[in-house]
Amino acid sequence: MKRVYRAATLLEVAHARNLLVAAGIDCEIRNQFLAGAVGELPALETWPQVYVEDDDEVRALRTLVQSRQPPSGSAWVCAGCGEELEPQFTHCWRCGREAEGRPA
Ligand SMILES: [Zn+2]
Repeated sequence: MKRVYRAATLLEVAHARNLLVAAGIDCEIRNQFLAGAVGELPALETWPQVYVEDDDEVRALRTLVQSRQPPSGSAWVCAGCGEELEPQFTHCWRCGREAEGRPA
């Protein structure tokens, strides 16, 4: 198995695993419960990590890198409250109004 991802929080690692699973790549999370060992091991080694089969390493890394690219599109202004919102949001976080003319 090859390690393809690690992060300080299980949330980030779980997200990475979800991306891989969605891409059809088998993977497993290690160190889920190792945080208690911090202080005895180098901190990075205690972070939750995602492992994939050796043959899937390149495909997994590619999937993860692609997921980090900034969302396409441009910022938009909510017609309801005037809030400026990042392109990845489909709804205004302030008032809940859906972006007009954008795919949901
Ligand atoms: Zn709004």
